Formats: sequence, structure tokens, C-alpha cells
Amino acid sequence: MSSVEPELVGCVVRNASAEGCQAYVAAQVAAVRRRGRFPGPRRVLIIGASSGFGLAARLQLAFGGGSATYGIAFERAPSAEQGGSAGWYKQQAFDQLAREQGVQAESRFADAFLPATRAQTLAWIRTHWGQVDLLVYSLASSVRIREDGQRCCAVIKSLHNSLEGWGLDLAAEQLIRQQVEVATAQELADTEAVMGGDSWHAWVSALQQADLLAPGFRTLAFSYEGPAFTHAWYRDGTLGAAKRHLLQTADQLRDALVPLQGDARVVMCKALVTRASLVIPFLPIYLMLLMAVMKEKGLHEECLQQMARLFADQLYGPGAPRCDALGRWRLDELELRADVQHEVLARRAALTAENFRTLGDYDGLRAELLRQHGFAPLSG
Ligand code: NAD
Repeated sequence: MSSVEPELVGCVVRNASAEGCQAYVAAQVAAVRRRGRFPGPRRVLIIGASSGFGLAARLQLAFGGGSATYGIAFERAPSAEQGGSAGWYKQQAFDQLAREQGVQAESRFADAFLPATRAQTLAWIRTHWGQVDLLVYSLASSVRIREDGQRCCAVIKSLHNSLEGWGLDLAAEQLIRQQVEVATAQELADTEAVMGGDSWHAWVSALQQADLLAPGFRTLAFSYEGPAFTHAWYRDGTLGAAKRHLLQTADQLRDALVPLQGDARVVMCKALVTRASLVIPFLPIYLMLLMAVMKEKGLHEECLQQMARLFADQLYGPGAPRCDALGRWRLDELELRADVQHEVLARRAALTAENFRTLGDYDGLRAELLRQHGFAPLSG
């Protein structure tokens, strides 16, 4: 399909195929169309719209729910020296398909942390929509440049003890040993500044102050918890701390939205192959075991299916989101099912450098990552 060959480094694909990304998005649009229509919200702003959960949310809402969407993403444009990032091509593909199919969509490549991006977006919304009904905040980044130029970097580190375990190198096609060190107080603060709720709060507050939120406005951000054995490096590490900050932000936003009878929620999603998730140490190993078990049990879902459950079946459909004691909506109940986790743990205990391709869905994980960059066959 593509004349470009993938450049894999560890678990990162550094390039993308423009035609492959176009075909990838077209296949996803077709899947959404096959599932059928649902009455989505009228006007949706999506931050982090080019990839992973944000793109899946946008696809479901635009092509399934009939929503007008405004998508913001921060991606590498193609240049004379280098091709564009996968997210660049996927957002372009989304726009083209939307135009061809008469679906209202507006997209921007811009840094959502910058006040200028908020100001431009608010001006556009005021002129073209008047108000927003839903804001989906799905940004995943390792860096935030503050207004004063200060650079904050998110790190994936432990808060208590250094850790060591198996990781995956998709380029070398082998298991590797990985270490996770203990974060400093500054690293923890920086990770919260990048992946916590600061920017989500700033967006919703700016829209509210500008009187651009529709009555009944909702806003959602995505989070992850995982089973107990992942807690040391995720839930109880720097990323987990940022996710607690996100949850506190949801509580604050919910209070602020009371006059509009609005709502703000953190949605707990399942672990899935995305550009952001595969750089988390140890996670690719868990993910490949989880994918194998969930596929064998007929429970496998990708971002598109998770977002279909959230929007088509629950929020704008016949069901209702499952809410936990902390007010979070749960889409991770299949991942956390006792029989699934029991089997994942058994396979993890038996994992060796020789058997990892058969105990886990190594090929499926690799193919999915490549597919998201426009490289692998679209079926299989
Ligand atoms: P992803 O890498 O696939 O997508 C990230 C998106 O953020 C891209 O559209 C990118 O362009 C955008 N982005 C990055 N920096 C930006 C910036 N400065 N301004 C504007 N846009 C920017 O990531 P993902 O895995 O879909 O993650 C999205 C959210 O879902 C994150 O909060 C993540 O923690 C959460 N989540 C992911 C998983 C998983 O397994 N992948 C599970 C549960 C929750």
C-alpha cells in the first residue's frame, strides 16, 4: 500500500504513511457507519483529536452521532526533510472524509496548552457555533511549554521505590529489562502540570467565562487505573498522580457547571495500543498478555469500540454510564474482570524471553501500532 517503510525504535514508530493513514481513517469511518446512527450532541470540541481515544471519540460523534466537531491536535507537519506524523495525516484524512460525506468538521494543528490557541478557538466558536455542548479532553503529551517559555516534561517514574521488570522492544522483536526510577518532587510537579487537569480546567473556565457553554454542557477526560500488579508503576507513580489531579479537576469543574446543569467526568478506559501507551515502561508486556486473553474470550475492544460504548450505547444511547464511588465513569470493567486478570497473571508468571510471542498477542500488538501509523494490512 505504501512506498514508505516503517521506522521503529523500541516501541515508537517514527514515521507514517500518508496513504495508509487515509485508508486507516476511512476503514474506521466505515466501521462507525456500519454500527448505525445515534443522536449525538450538536457541537463538540475535542482536544487531542488526531489519535487514540480523541480520534475515536471524534469519529463516533461525527460519523455516528451527527455532531459538528472542532478538533485540535499538535502534530508534526510534513517538510522537505521529514514526513508528517501519523496524527497529522489522520487528522487531514478525517477532514477530507468529513467534507466528502457532508459532515461538519473544523480542525486545527495547535498547542492546546497555549492561551493563544484557546483565544483563537473561542473566537471561532463564538462566530460559527455560538456555544459548545461537549468538550472531550484527550491530550497525551510528554511536554508542555508554559507561557513564560518554561518547559515542563512529564516523566513516567515511581513515587516510592525504583522498579525493574520486562519491557518490549518491537524494533528488536525481543524482551528487554527496563528500570523505573523514583521521581523527584519537581518531576512529579511537572508531570502533573502536563498530564493533570490544569489545561482542561483552563479550557472549560475560558469557555464558561466567555458564555460559550450550552445549557447541559458536558466535559470528559480519560484516565486509567489497571489491575493491582500494575499499580506500582502506573496508578501509584507519576502518571497516576497526574490522573488524581485530573479527577480533582473534574470535581471542581462539576461544581462550576452546576448553574448550567452541566457535568464533568473522568472516564476510566481500558489499556489499549496507542502512541502514548506503548512508551510507558512495562505496559506493552501487560498489554500483549491482556490482548491475547481478551481476544480468546471474545472481549477485545479498541479505542473505537470503547468510544462507541461510551457515546452510542451509554451517554447518548439507551444505557447510562457506569459510575464508581469516586464519580468516575467506567469503561474498563471487561479488562478488570476476575477471570481475565487471573489468566493474565498466570501467563505473566510463565513469561520468558523465548515464549513471549505465543503467551501474549505480540503480533496483534505490533500490527495495531503499525496500522495506526498507516503501515500494516487493515484486516487481521
Ligand atoms: P495518543 O498519543 O494516541 O493521542 C494524544 C493526542 O493528544 C493526539 O491527538 C495529539 O496530537 C494530542 N496532543 C498532544 N500534545 C498536544 C498539545 N500540546 N496540544 C494539542 N494536542 C496535543 O494518546 P491516547 O492514548 O489516546 O491518550 C489520550 C488520553 O487517554 C490520555 O489522557 C491517556 O492517559 C488516556 N488513556 C489512555 C489509555 C491507553 O491505554 N492508551 C487508557 C486509558 C486512558
